[in-house]
Amino acid sequence: MRVELVTGDITVQEVDAIVNAANSSLLGGGGVDGAIHRRGGPAILDECRALRAGHYGRGLAVGEAVATTAGRLPARWVIHTVGPVFSAREDRSPLLRNCYANSLRVAAELGARSIAFPLVSSGVYRWPKEDAVAQALAVLRGSDVPTTVEDARLVLFDDATRVIAQRLL
Ligand code: ADP
Repeated sequence: MRVELVTGDITVQEVDAIVNAANSSLLGGGGVDGAIHRRGGPAILDECRALRAGHYGRGLAVGEAVATTAGRLPARWVIHTVGPVFSAREDRSPLLRNCYANSLRVAAELGARSIAFPLVSSGVYRWPKEDAVAQALAVLRGSDVPTTVEDARLVLFDDATRVIAQRLL
C-alpha cells in the first residue's frame, strides 16, 4: 500500500472511500463530519439513521468503522470511524490505531482500492497533531492489516500539519 500525504479538504478527494472522523451517534457533528454531510447531501445521514435503527442501535463504538454511501461526493463510500477523545492520563492510542486498521478492513470488504483519511481525533477530540500523525502512520505503514487498498492518503487540513507529517514520514 502506497501512503501519500496531502494538504486539503477530505470531501473533494477522488478516491474510492473517504473516512469520516465521526462521533458515536453517527448522526453528524462538526469538523470533518459536518463537511462530509454538507457536501455529500442527505443520503449519507439517511443511511446513518438506518444503521442506528438496525445493528448500531447504541451507536458506533470508539475505534470501530462502518461504511455508507458517499452521496454526492466524488468518493463511492464514506467509512465512518469514531476516534477516542485525547486523555493525558490514559493511553488511548490503541483505540486511535484501531480507527485506521478497522477502516482498512471495511475498505477491503467493499473492495476499495484507494482511501483518504483525515487526521482522526486531532480536532474537537484534542489529540496532539504530531502524535495523531504518528499513530496514523504506524498503521498505514505497517503491514499487518489485510486490505485491498493500494493507495492511502492522509489528508491534512493545513500546511503546518502537513510539514509535521512529512517529517515523520
Ligand atoms: P475529531 O472529532 O476526531 O477530533 P475533527 O473533525 O474535529 O475530528 O478534526 C479532525 C481533523 O480534521 C482536524 O485536524 C481538523 O483540522 C481536520 N479537518 C477539519 N475539517 C476538515 C476537512 N474538511 N478536510 C480535512 N480535514 C479536516
